Amino acid sequence: MIEKQPFDIANAIDRIREVMRQFPKAALFELADEGYRSPFEQLIACIISIRTRDETTLPVARRLFERARTPDEVRCLTLTELETLIAQCTFPESKAHQIHAIACRVVQEHQGNLGCDADVLLSFKGVGFKCTNLVLGIACNQPRISVDIHVHRITNRWGYVGTRTPEETMVALESKVPRLNWVEINELLVPFGKHICTGKLPRCSTCPVIDSCQQIGVDAHR
Ligand code: SF4
Repeated sequence: MIEKQPFDIANAIDRIREVMRQFPKAALFELADEGYRSPFEQLIACIISIRTRDETTLPVARRLFERARTPDEVRCLTLTELETLIAQCTFPESKAHQIHAIACRVVQEHQGNLGCDADVLLSFKGVGFKCTNLVLGIACNQPRISVDIHVHRITNRWGYVGTRTPEETMVALESKVPRLNWVEINELLVPFGKHICTGKLPRCSTCPVIDSCQQIGVDAHR
């Protein structure tokens, strides 16, 4: 068996960043590049993205934002209009209710402006740490680590953390990753998990961090 190098997170991030240049960005980062980077837009896009592929999230979010992109504009849509606009994502009916309720609360309780307050974001029904930290990281430039299923799976395979849930992974990563890289961890590992360190049969033979990854739990790979 080949002896592995100690896991150097800064070096791993550098190598993964280089390789990921050839792949599309994760949906919320792409939308931010297109100008949809307010906390409200990022939150709504994150809700749309839940259990929805990026290839669907992007056109659905763009379609909604072309019609309504502020809390007041979304509040003025009927639930039927909203559900029709986001019909291609998963659970459009429940997401339309959720998005409409958030828009109404932002207008009524925050003068139509969703700021950068974690407690406010987490107070919305169905919004957890994953979306809250993405919003605060992308829209508010706060150092936050958003842990989705890709970040959780990959950092455990590396042997860099040994955790059972995304929440545990978030806490573990916050104690080990330099703050400078907190937002970028999600930005890089989501596409890395889609294209290289995939759930089944990861592409270990061409992986840029094979020399230090412990491949924990990887029984078969390409
Ligand atoms: S070596 Fe394999 S398991 Fe480890 S990060 Fe790369 S693709 Fe994932």
